[in-house]
Amino acid sequence: MRFDVVSLFPDIFEAVCKYGVTGRAHTQGLWQLKVWNPRDFTQDVHRTVDDRPYGGGPGMVMMAQPLEDAVNAARADRTDETPPVWLMSPTGRCFDQKMAQELALGPGAILICGRYEGVDQRFIDRCVTHEVSIGDFVLSGGEIPALAIMDSAVRLLPGALNDKESALQDSFHDTLTGLLDSPHFTRPEVYQGQAVPSELLSGHHANIALWRRRQSLALTMARRPDLIESARQAGRLSKSDEAFLASLTKN
Ligand code: SAM
Repeated sequence: MRFDVVSLFPDIFEAVCKYGVTGRAHTQGLWQLKVWNPRDFTQDVHRTVDDRPYGGGPGMVMMAQPLEDAVNAARADRTDETPPVWLMSPTGRCFDQKMAQELALGPGAILICGRYEGVDQRFIDRCVTHEVSIGDFVLSGGEIPALAIMDSAVRLLPGALNDKESALQDSFHDTLTGLLDSPHFTRPEVYQGQAVPSELLSGHHANIALWRRRQSLALTMARRPDLIESARQAGRLSKSDEAFLASLTKN
């Protein structure tokens, strides 16, 4: 998988190539990253990448031409003919685990990091295939969203995680039928007077799995009832799940 990132701050992306799971996967050659600075595609001596908004108003807008030329350079450098071009934008579709899973199965993408007030709409109309948000809040730039998106996809690549089971046990994953993960405990067995739940010490695999499933159901019901409803609509809750959920509302 390969990502091409268009950003005015290329150094930020060292973070994802050097550290932790994504860094190790990068060293192993499981994924590649190339960063393109729109400033290198400007056509004036001042290397201008932004200008004042038509119609007035505060801030600056990223110009279309340096961005389009950067995208074309990235496209020409890749072997796949039509890579998706994702613009990081608070007005885009909210990124989720399903999108991460789909991304991890594909060739990667070209990610565009906006700055200032945003980017000229004509660049979006001409070059962008998807606009993607990482949540209902506004950041100063698209670099952190691009890092988050790459991290979430790379950790799903076969061989990226030490224990291949661990991504399957994460929140939102299909294996958990889209629910939230259950709580985790490690040594010591008693910490500040609080003991590890006895089910996890039992060594009884079926009981441990049942305890985790119930914790997951209870936590999701309390914090994200919308995910319970989605799992229900998709027919992914068992009779035993439903009985447990019913017992929660009774208590
Ligand atoms: N004026 C824009 C608006 O209100 O929608 C916000 C511009 S923001 C200050 C600058 C850039 O940061 C955006 O162009 C986008 O690339 C990025 N950005 C900010 N928040 C984001 C989010 N929640 N998700 C994805 N990208 C975001």
